[in-house]
Amino acid sequence: MDPKVLEKCREALQRQMNELMADAGKTVSDMTLAPEENFPDPTDRAALESDRNFTLRLRDRERKLVAKIKEAIKRTESGAFGICDSCGGEIEEKRMLARPVTTECIDCKTAAEEEEVR
Ligand SMILES: [Zn+2]
Repeated sequence: MDPKVLEKCREALQRQMNELMADAGKTVSDMTLAPEENFPDPTDRAALESDRNFTLRLRDRERKLVAKIKEAIKRTESGAFGICDSCGGEIEEKRMLARPVTTECIDCKTAAEEEEVR
């Protein structure tokens, strides 16, 4: 892979990571700042609970994404970045730039998706 492309991808990953971390920090302080005694009405409490569930679900998704980004950054350091996990071929630079956490080339990804549908 072109070192310039690699560097661009690494920067994009780092930026995405920083954004996620900033959001996660916000979510945590939002949750600790919600004093339950301010919601004595059971309906409000239910709304608060479902809000919280939503936040937790979101955070679960974010956690998974953070893990993916960390893996991708590790790959930029080990030289495995842009190499398909399934066939060992090079992944298109365009694809890596669009989605730097990608671990499979378009052919393998398509094949895997067709497998899932069946
Ligand atoms: Zn492949």
